[in-house]
Amino acid sequence: MSERKPVPHNPASNVRRCPVCDKPSYSASGVHPQCSLAKADAVSRAARKAAEENAPPAPVQPKLNRFQKQCPKCKRVVAPRRFRCDCGHNFDASLARAGAKAST
Ligand SMILES: [Zn+2]
Ligand SMILES: [Zn+2]
Repeated sequence: MSERKPVPHNPASNVRRCPVCDKPSYSASGVHPQCSLAKADAVSRAARKAAEENAPPAPVQPKLNRFQKQCPKCKRVVAPRRFRCDCGHNFDASLARAGAKAST
């Protein structure tokens, strides 16, 4: 009496392969849930990296101490003894106006 070997329900040709890890997947979508998550994570990470590379570098804010002052016009840090910035902004005038405003 011969015994027949059980025939597999899912022949290899019929099994979907996960496009991410290239291993047989029996899920409805054909992609392992963990693989789809990993893929989505990789895609978002690549997108974030690309965005970072395309974005201009953040402007470095100079740290001012009390011996420095910054031009409100061109944002350049100049020596405090200077009354006029290279851009033509007159510190003396603005300080005098502010002082006059405060005193009255
Ligand atoms: Zn997979
Ligand atoms: Zn300036």
